Amino acid sequence: MKTLPRADVAIVGGGWAGLLMAKELGARTGLSVVVLERGGPRKTADYFEGMDELDYAIRFRMMQDVSKETVTFRHTHKDRALPVRQFGAFLPGTGMGGAGEHWNGTTPRLLPDCFEIHTRTVERYGAGRLPPNHSIQDWGITYAELEPFYTRAERLLGISGKAGVDPFEGPRSAEYPTPPQKLAYFSTLFRDATRSLGYHPFPSPSANLSKAYRNPDGIVRPACEYCGFCDRFGCMVGAKAQPTNTLMPVIARQKGVSVRTGANVRRVLYQDGKATGVSYVDANGEEVVQPADLVVLASWTLNNTRLLLLSRIGEAYDPVSGKGQVGRNLTHQAHSRGTVLFFDRPLNRFMGSGGCGVAISDLDGDCFDHGPLDFIRGAYITAFGYGHRPIANFGVVPPGVKTTWGPEWKKAAIDAFDCTSNLSIAGEHMAYRTNYLDLDPTYRDSNGDPLLRMTMDWNDNERNMIAFMSAKMVQVGREMGAREVASTALPRRYDVNTYKSTHVQGGAIMGSNPGNSVVNRWLQHWQMPNLFVLGASSFPQNASGNPTLTVLAQTLRTADAIVDRYLKRPELLA
Ligand SMILES: Cc1cc2nc3c(=O)[nH]c(=O)nc-3n(C[C@H](O)[C@H](O)[C@H](O)COP(=O)(O)OP(=O)(O)OC[C@H]3O[C@@H](n4cnc5c(N)ncnc54)[C@H](O)[C@@H]3O)c2cc1C
Ligand code: SF4
Repeated sequence: MKTLPRADVAIVGGGWAGLLMAKELGARTGLSVVVLERGGPRKTADYFEGMDELDYAIRFRMMQDVSKETVTFRHTHKDRALPVRQFGAFLPGTGMGGAGEHWNGTTPRLLPDCFEIHTRTVERYGAGRLPPNHSIQDWGITYAELEPFYTRAERLLGISGKAGVDPFEGPRSAEYPTPPQKLAYFSTLFRDATRSLGYHPFPSPSANLSKAYRNPDGIVRPACEYCGFCDRFGCMVGAKAQPTNTLMPVIARQKGVSVRTGANVRRVLYQDGKATGVSYVDANGEEVVQPADLVVLASWTLNNTRLLLLSRIGEAYDPVSGKGQVGRNLTHQAHSRGTVLFFDRPLNRFMGSGGCGVAISDLDGDCFDHGPLDFIRGAYITAFGYGHRPIANFGVVPPGVKTTWGPEWKKAAIDAFDCTSNLSIAGEHMAYRTNYLDLDPTYRDSNGDPLLRMTMDWNDNERNMIAFMSAKMVQVGREMGAREVASTALPRRYDVNTYKSTHVQGGAIMGSNPGNSVVNRWLQHWQMPNLFVLGASSFPQNASGNPTLTVLAQTLRTADAIVDRYLKRPELLA
C-alpha cells in the first residue's frame, strides 16, 4: 500500500459533477485538488474515428465494464438478487467525463413543484392521495433557491431553448444563451397537433448547440451538425456539451487541479468523525491512499451510495424497520417509448440531435387536475428528432403484420423504417419504502468488494400514470396524421433489461434534518462535515425531466457554499 502526499481536496469521479466542482475550486481557491476517475482519459479527438453503432451503442464501448463491477437486482426484499450481466435499464458511464460524454443533452429545468411534492400534494389533495407505502419527501430547497444556479449552468453549457413559451416553466432570470435548435419534421407534426388539441408545445432545451457559442469561461464550441449520433456517442465536433470539451480545457490550465485516471476508489477513510482521504486501486492494481482534508463523492447515484455503504458511513437503510438513511428512496423513471406512430410518408429520421425536439408540460407534475385520476404527478412528453440509427431502430412493424420473420416481415420493416417514430413519455417515479439500495451479501466485484444490490419494482401510481399518458398520446398521434398508432402501457414489473433512461436517483438523499436524509441542503454529510456527496443520489425522488441540469445547478450551489462559507469555518453548514 502506497500513501501519497496530502491534497486539500479529493474528488471521486470525473463526470459532470466531479469535474465541475474541480473547475470551480480551481478557479476560486488556491487549494490542491485531485480528481480520481476509475476509467481512462478522453478527448474530442477520440471521437473522430466515426460512428460505429454496433461498437458504441449496442456493445456499450463507453459504459461501465460489467465483467469487473455490476449491480445485483431483485424486485422485493424477500427475493434473492442476481447479478446484472449486461446493463439494460440504465447505462452507467466510466472514463473521463463519465456518462456526460455519451449523453443526449436534453436539459430541462425541473418544474418548481417537483421540489415540494409532499407539501403541494397534501395541500391540494390531502395526505390520502399520496401512494401507499410511499416515502416521498420535499427536497429541502426550492426552485427559487436553485434558479440562479440553473442560469449559471445553462450559460456554462450554452443551452439552446426559448424562454416564455412553456406556460408552466418556473420563473427565469434570463433567456437561454442560444436559440432553439432546428426541428425535425416529426417534431413539427407534434408541435402542430398538440397546439390544435389545446396543449402548449415548446422547444425542448438542449445542450447540442444551435449556433456557435462562447461560454463565460471563454470556451468556444461550434454548432450542431444534426448527425444523429449523440446518444451513447461522444460528439466529434464538440457541439454537444461534454465535460471533456466544456470543463477539461479550463481545468487543464489550472495549476491546483490534477485529474488522475485509472483510480478506482474503494473506501472513504475517516477518523474521529472526519474524512481523512480515500483509498483506491490504481491502473496497475496497486492499493493507494490519497489523504485529503475535504472529500467529495461524485461517482454517480449508484457508486456514491455504494462507497458510503462500503465505508460504513451513516446507517444503512432497513426496509423492515424503516430505520437508517443510506440507500433509501431509490427511484428510476417511469419511461415509456410505447406510443409508436406509423405514417404514410418518409420522416427523414436519420437527421437530428440528442436533445432536439418539442415537448409539452401540460401533463407534467401537478400542471393538471389529478382530482378524478388514480395517480399523482405526471410526465415530460416529447417528440424528439434525435436521429434514428439503423440497428437500434430497424424492425418496428405495424400491428397488422402477424409474422416476426421472413419476406413479409422484412418488407414491412423496410417500408416502416423511415415512416415510423415514437413519442417519449418520461414519467415521474415516486419514492417507496420498498425500493432501496444495499450491499449484496453474496456477489463481489473484481476487487472482492460486495456489489451494490438494487431492490426495485413499479407501483400502481406509475402503471396508472403511464396508461393515462399513453391514451392521451394515441389522440395526439392521430391528430399528427399517423396512419396507425400502437401503444403499450408500463409493464407490471420493473424490467432491468430494457432501457428506460440513465436517470437513477436516491440512496444519499438531501433533506431538512439527519432523521430524513444523508446530506443537508448543501449536499454536505450530516455526520461528517468534510464530506460532500454530489449528483442525483441526493434527489429524494425522480422528477420527470432529465436530471443533469439540476445536478449541475446543485453542484454550483455546493461549490459556492464550500468556497464562501465552509472554507472560512469548516463545520456543518446547516
Ligand atoms: C445514453 C445516455 C443518455 C443520457 N441522456 C441524458 C440527457 O439527455 N439529459 C440528462 O439530463 N441526462 C442524460 N443522461 C444522464 C447523464 O449522463 C447523467 O445524469 C450525468 O452524466 C450524471 O453526472 P455525474 O457526474 O453525476 O455522473 P457520471 O457522469 O456517471 O460520472 C461519474 C464518474 O464517476 C466515476 N466513478 C464511479 N465510481 C468510481 C469509483 N469508485 N472511483 C473512481 N471513479 C468512479 C465514473 O467512472 C464516472 O466517470 C444520459 C445518460 C446516458 C447513459
Ligand atoms: S447531432 Fe450534433 S451534438 Fe450530436 S453528435 Fe452530432 S454534431 Fe454532435
